[in-house]
Amino acid sequence: MNPYGSLPFPDPVPDCTECATFRRRLAEVSLDDSAAADVRVLWRRHAAERHGQQFSILQHPPQQ
Ligand SMILES: [Zn+2]
Repeated sequence: MNPYGSLPFPDPVPDCTECATFRRRLAEVSLDDSAAADVRVLWRRHAAERHGQQFSILQHPPQQ
């Protein structure tokens, strides 16, 4: 099962310290799917707001 398949993380912007932080945090939680999903959601939101990257999904997928 590929944890990055359904909710890919954004392209890190080289000069952005926040993107670097998100990428490091994602690596730290790589064994925890739910934590990694949280990081990806926050990163995608950041990328959309700061960098204008567009994603089809910005919110958590429906759960429970
Ligand atoms: Zn950024």
